[in-house]
Amino acid sequence: MRVVLADLKSDRGFVGKDTVVGGFGSRLDPFSRVTRLIAHFKRQFHDTPSVQLATSAAILARAGHDVRWTRGSLVEGDVALVLSSLVDYRNETAWADRMRERGVTIGFIGIAASKLPRLFEGHCDFIVNGEPETGVMQLARGAVPRGMTPSDPVADLDSLPFPRWDLVSGNQAHLGFKWSARPVGGGYPLLASRGCPEFCTYCPHRIVASYRTRSVGSIVDELERLCDRHPRPYVIFRDPLFSEQRDRCLHLCDAIRSRGLTLTFEAETRLDRLDTILLDRLHAAGLRAISFGVESADPATLRKSGRRPIAPAHQREIIVHCHRKGIVTAAFYVFGFLQDDWSSIAATIEYATELGSTFAQFKMLTPYPGTPMFRQLEPLLVETDWEKFDGYTPTFRHPNLSAGELRYLLGAAYTRFYVRPSYFATFLNIQNSVVRNLVRRMDRRIDDRHKRAQAPRFDYREVSHP
Ligand code: SF4
Repeated sequence: MRVVLADLKSDRGFVGKDTVVGGFGSRLDPFSRVTRLIAHFKRQFHDTPSVQLATSAAILARAGHDVRWTRGSLVEGDVALVLSSLVDYRNETAWADRMRERGVTIGFIGIAASKLPRLFEGHCDFIVNGEPETGVMQLARGAVPRGMTPSDPVADLDSLPFPRWDLVSGNQAHLGFKWSARPVGGGYPLLASRGCPEFCTYCPHRIVASYRTRSVGSIVDELERLCDRHPRPYVIFRDPLFSEQRDRCLHLCDAIRSRGLTLTFEAETRLDRLDTILLDRLHAAGLRAISFGVESADPATLRKSGRRPIAPAHQREIIVHCHRKGIVTAAFYVFGFLQDDWSSIAATIEYATELGSTFAQFKMLTPYPGTPMFRQLEPLLVETDWEKFDGYTPTFRHPNLSAGELRYLLGAAYTRFYVRPSYFATFLNIQNSVVRNLVRRMDRRIDDRHKRAQAPRFDYREVSHP
């Protein structure tokens, strides 16, 4: 059977999908000069090939099928599997329609089609509902699914074949130029675990299947295979909570070193799942960047959303230690929790600049279908275009802030964080205390200018919005 795997490129700005926001995807439509620049860099460094399709390719090729791959052109085939997203579903369904006109059987995979099948079912022959591998194995056996087809999560992740990057990616991951830790083209995603054992009610990473891990042996075998085929690969661990199990992480570091693998990698985790000893070992094994959620400066707001707050002193300690080791840090923040108002978001922006991670990503609280937060906010939804559930657009009626105010605060956060001398000093990893003190003094002057410019709409002295 000829099977086409479609990881479609958006025709409207850069879209991250596959494992981004659990697979719902994210699109930054720039709304300021700073976000225009960030969108540009995202396009260069975040366009990584799909690990879901690479694993599907391995399953299908193992069964002897002819696997083809496309990012948008129409390809001859018998069946096409399309990676779904929420933020670009119109482009995906339009492509599916064109392929169906050519007689190709179409199936969608991914969380968006699983949780919002009504957006896709008029444009396909089947939807693989759940993690895709079980459904893809059925297809590999020659049984083409029909309609909404349940796909149970694979309990033993070690039983899956390693992703076949040669079948689903061009050469973009081989370019050596780096902006921070990531090379152009992004690197190779790897899933060492799936799901998350935490309970953040807004998070899509925990709603498809439970938390499962691969054995260290299986992960290192996959890394070794990558190193054999690509010199010094950059690996992006896409686990939602990479360092959940400390001993397993240490074991992984030891295994990478004992096999003499030369690679660098990044991972996403919670800061309370890191300590300085673990960081030292991870760095020695190749860790060069970490990302983590801070979300809000207010612990009570976090608790209301099922998220366990992390002590600020620990957050600072980990970030300072990372920067000493030369590890790039990226912190995520969310605006628009129901408890948020002007002063709480102002406090979160202040906290973000003070914490001083290398990068910060500010996003709008978005209720994704299937999450507990979606059920809570469904009566307040005002946005009817699902593509606008992109992480940057207000989608529900907030009790304290209008959509315009939320967007304004989001823009202000990016400007305050990135147009700041100490941002550049952190980016360049300047540790010299004389320079850092000088830069901090310059920061205060620039910050005052930002505040004066934003003062008509953004009153920092108010405890709550009038
Ligand atoms: S810790 Fe992160 S990945 Fe886990 S549920 Fe919370 S937001 Fe999601």
